[in-house]
Amino acid sequence: MDIKTRQAAIEGWFIPGDDRTALVGSRCRECGTYSFPKETFFCKNPSCTGTEHEQVELSRRGRIWSFTNNCYQPPAPYVATTDPFEPFAVAAVELAEERLVVLGQMVSGTSIEDLHAGMEVELVTETLFEDDEAVHLIWKWCPVCPAISDPAPMQQSSPEDPTANQSGDLPASPGRAGS
Ligand SMILES: [Zn+2]
Repeated sequence: MDIKTRQAAIEGWFIPGDDRTALVGSRCRECGTYSFPKETFFCKNPSCTGTEHEQVELSRRGRIWSFTNNCYQPPAPYVATTDPFEPFAVAAVELAEERLVVLGQMVSGTSIEDLHAGMEVELVTETLFEDDEAVHLIWKWCPVCPAISDPAPMQQSSPEDPTANQSGDLPASPGRAGS
């Protein structure tokens, strides 16, 4: 038996799970302000004097607020998973309910060409790195639309098969002269 422990790379920030990853934040008992990572003392709201916070699981979905391509290898404690370093996409996501913006890597295989602001994403767990003791896990954002590598949907296409109407009148045909 050689089953390694699977654990969160940043303890206490999220709950890893195969089908239910959750970020762990806090909610001020006084004013209801959410925080991520969780607050243990002062409330983030400057006009609130609350110091009691309850730990909560935050929304598992949100929309991309901003995104970028991380082209340079971050400094330690970042652990490179490829050598040479391969750029990866990073997204700042506004959580559906709490409206907090949470930064995270996009799932492996996502390129920034696949992303746009406002795109819906959800949390998943991926392996960050593995050492002798454990598999260290991290949350990532995954586009909710399953086929992220598909070409963009064709907006103008009509329900009918466009190739079936080759005879004469093609009002929506892209402008191509017949010569
Ligand atoms: Zn508060």
